[in-house]
Amino acid sequence: MRILITGGAGFIGSHLCDAYLAQGHGVIAVDNLLTGSARNIEHLRGHAGFEFRQQDVTTPLNVDGPLEAVLHFASPASPSLTAPTSYMQLPIETLRVGSLGTFNALDLAKAKGARLLMASTSEVYGDPLEHPQKETYWGHVDSIGPRSVYDEAKRFSEALTMAYHRKHGVATRIVRIFNTYGPRMQLDDGRVVPNFVGQALRGQPLTVYGDGSQTRSFCYVADLVEGLQKLLASDEPTPVNLGNPREVTIREFAEVINGLTGNQGGIVVMPASRTQGDPQRRQPDISKAKRVLGWEPRTPLEAGLRRTIEYFRGVIA
Ligand code: UDP
Repeated sequence: MRILITGGAGFIGSHLCDAYLAQGHGVIAVDNLLTGSARNIEHLRGHAGFEFRQQDVTTPLNVDGPLEAVLHFASPASPSLTAPTSYMQLPIETLRVGSLGTFNALDLAKAKGARLLMASTSEVYGDPLEHPQKETYWGHVDSIGPRSVYDEAKRFSEALTMAYHRKHGVATRIVRIFNTYGPRMQLDDGRVVPNFVGQALRGQPLTVYGDGSQTRSFCYVADLVEGLQKLLASDEPTPVNLGNPREVTIREFAEVINGLTGNQGGIVVMPASRTQGDPQRRQPDISKAKRVLGWEPRTPLEAGLRRTIEYFRGVIA
């Protein structure tokens, strides 16, 4: 196959580039490097099957020759209130890539007769009233809240993807990605994994926002990529959750990271104002992924975190 990946220099996008190239496919990575990083794909420079285009995907995508798949992964993704690469700090860009960018990705897939996989998110469930979250749950989203620029962009992208499927017959797939972690996350993007690991490696206290009773379920990136490849290859047009169902409170998560790094800095509780709009609980129901894709994550949290900590050690050194 020849595959185009928007956001190909991002955290998940760059791992997808690696996976498809390793299987002998050709990959065109498109990224404007707003939140992605050239470092994530540096090792692919000179690879015969790889092409990088620095382009904003809100401008039309043109590819000469055949193309079998489009994976639309471009978007800011961190909800940090302060990090310059977060969607809070890039609200207009986030809405543009989730609307115009999705149109361009779908128009390219339509023109080429290619499959399209759209990267959606557990954020479409908002601050969920149903737990764990199944794909049938319609969500609980504040359309003008602090996270709305991301949540509504992704909800719009899902609607647009289904419209191209129904109206134009494009072979589309939608993945709802839950919290994912691993090498190539950005140290300074303000999300909990890079924040905690960076703090732990510097011997600092981990900044737990609010009382730390909010939960997340963390999936190692290699597991996610395997699920994404299975979904693209499947015939399932309706959304599929991919994530790890092991749910932890943020306070427990901080303790795990302090334990694995040997950090003596402990934790520091930050004001609850940091968690404005923050979902209180999040856990994927992955029975659909198991049934339709035969997929479930395999990497235990501690094992994935060990690899992630090693990566960040190299970044900080
Ligand atoms: N969080 C925290 N300390 C930090 C960063 C995040 O306690 O330094 C919390 C945050 O309030 C949220 C959870 O960790 O409840 C996950 O946050 P993240 O920004 O990684 O992404 P989210 O899952 O909210 O999209």
